[in-house]
Amino acid sequence: MTSQPTTATALGPVARTQGRQHAPPRVSFEFSPPKTPEAEEELWRAIRRLEPLAPSFVSVTYGAGGSTRERTHRTVLRMLRETRLAPAAHLTCVDASRSEVDEIVRDYWNAGVRHIVALRGDPPGQIGGAYSPRPDGYANATDLAVGIRAIAPFELSVALYPQVHPESPSLEHDIDVLKAKIDAGATRAITNFFFDVDGFLRFIERIRRAGVTIPVLPGIMPVSSYKGLRRMAEANGVVLPPWLGRLFDGLDKDPETRRLIAASVASEMCARLQEEGFEDFHFFTLNRADLVYAICRVLGVREIAS
Ligand code: FAD
Repeated sequence: MTSQPTTATALGPVARTQGRQHAPPRVSFEFSPPKTPEAEEELWRAIRRLEPLAPSFVSVTYGAGGSTRERTHRTVLRMLRETRLAPAAHLTCVDASRSEVDEIVRDYWNAGVRHIVALRGDPPGQIGGAYSPRPDGYANATDLAVGIRAIAPFELSVALYPQVHPESPSLEHDIDVLKAKIDAGATRAITNFFFDVDGFLRFIERIRRAGVTIPVLPGIMPVSSYKGLRRMAEANGVVLPPWLGRLFDGLDKDPETRRLIAASVASEMCARLQEEGFEDFHFFTLNRADLVYAICRVLGVREIAS
């Protein structure tokens, strides 16, 4: 099997017409805390558009710095108050003492949040830079997961890297870290974005062979700006396959076609993963609903009446 898709058409409907019927997948959506009042309006328009698709959960990322963090808390609590969504709050070990993190965890539990995405985080302003934990802080996601579980029985998700974490010496090391996070209470792994489906499937086979049984949600990045994607990929140690660049080649001034291609590529990836038995997809929305909504429609996900 090659890692090269033959066309940019969505395989979802094709697969269905060829008689390989799949139930619509379960979906979850990741958002980021908004930086401005305008961005907040855009975020909430996206949340309202995607909410009727009844995602299993929605998650809100966590940055560095007090005001960014405050916006994460506010967004999560507003989701809880004003929507039917089940929010998952991302939380990191960066630049905070154990007691500061514990207080946030307790506040979330008391407010009714039941799901945390436990992460180590990166040094502020320096993804991929050398990380040194605060002496009075949690050292890594494993340590954080233990701390969270000691406070309350949260549902815990953790991060996983199909192309190996940029700081990791090997895939075996990543698998050991994942197992440690599971021992610490993680019940689900969400992967970083990727585009090489065959490589992803080999990765999954390796972790299953190593005895990992928790659900792994493929992280799907439907991105219509190839330049932006390249920046994100470099920062995250993700290698983009050459065929992807070729699809966007010469389209810098044609956002409409880029969007159609982005929806098509992501739909095709999800359809292929469904063929391989994946029933859950986690979408990095970048706070926009349109592409994710279209991809969900292609996959058969429909609105649920309130
Ligand atoms: P860890 O799992 O802690 O692993 C990092 C390193 O710590 C390991 O390579 C290992 O060397 C060491 N380590 C961990 N556990 C052990 C152990 N038990 N024994 C020995 N060594 C250990 N970042 C943010 O800042 N905010 C976010 O909201 C955010 N959301 C993300 C969502 C997803 C789906 C993904 C995939 C990543 C996200 N990140 C986020 C990025 C993440 O914080 C970085 O990739 C970070 O560099 C590693 O975080 P981690 O939780 O995977 O680290």
